[in-house]
Amino acid sequence: MQGGVVMTKRPDEIALMAESGRLLAKVFSYLDGLNLIGMSTMQVNDLVDRFIVDELKARPASKGQYGFAYALNSSRNNVVCHGVPSATEILQSGDIVNFDITLEKNDYIADSSKTYLVGDVSAQAKRLVQVTYEALWQGIKAVRPGARLGDVGYAIERHAQKHGYSVVREYCGHGIGREMHEPPQVLHWGKPRTGLVLQEGMVFTIEPMINQGRHAVQTEDDGWAVTTCDGKLSAQFEHTVAVTRDGVQVLTLRSDEKILN
Ligand code: MN
Repeated sequence: MQGGVVMTKRPDEIALMAESGRLLAKVFSYLDGLNLIGMSTMQVNDLVDRFIVDELKARPASKGQYGFAYALNSSRNNVVCHGVPSATEILQSGDIVNFDITLEKNDYIADSSKTYLVGDVSAQAKRLVQVTYEALWQGIKAVRPGARLGDVGYAIERHAQKHGYSVVREYCGHGIGREMHEPPQVLHWGKPRTGLVLQEGMVFTIEPMINQGRHAVQTEDDGWAVTTCDGKLSAQFEHTVAVTRDGVQVLTLRSDEKILN
């Protein structure tokens, strides 16, 4: 309990969330098979929307949430998060682009994102994307009963800073279940041995946004897209995880992924 809110889920609920996560992983496998060069981010959105509804018989959970009308957020290059798909935003070789997708099945939501390399990407951009992925896994590996959320944030921040990058502070991971955003907030920075003590049955996202330059961000005039203040690149990866009896289960694990050490 924290503030009277129950933050643990029953095994039957976690099983349903694992099913949502398994389906969401399939969406990313589908995206992996697309040639993104020359596609608009709206075309990608429309394909993903149809795949979730028609193939997976599920619901894109972001549609209608907070007034958002699409199945995904597309965040390209200097866009940190919450980018809105557009018919005039054409993906070009050299871009990096994050697709952040939520899927609801049987009333339970899973949330995951992946940053894609479009065509020939600079070595610097590739390095940022790789280090961001590693930072996510550093956070995941810190999850176990008795660990604290500060341990998770610290592991992520330490890895990013080791490579000369910064961690976005304004946006964080979150508990998830029947609602897309539930307690607790999961910061991607922090001090070891501080914050909420993790318990078996907690389910939350870890979704670090790592900037090539400074951590400061701003919201664009559309009220959605968050960009880096210095115009440099930002990357993000996200998984939905459950705290198990002796560690962590990654509910949105994709078939091409294995636990990173
Ligand atoms: Mn999320």
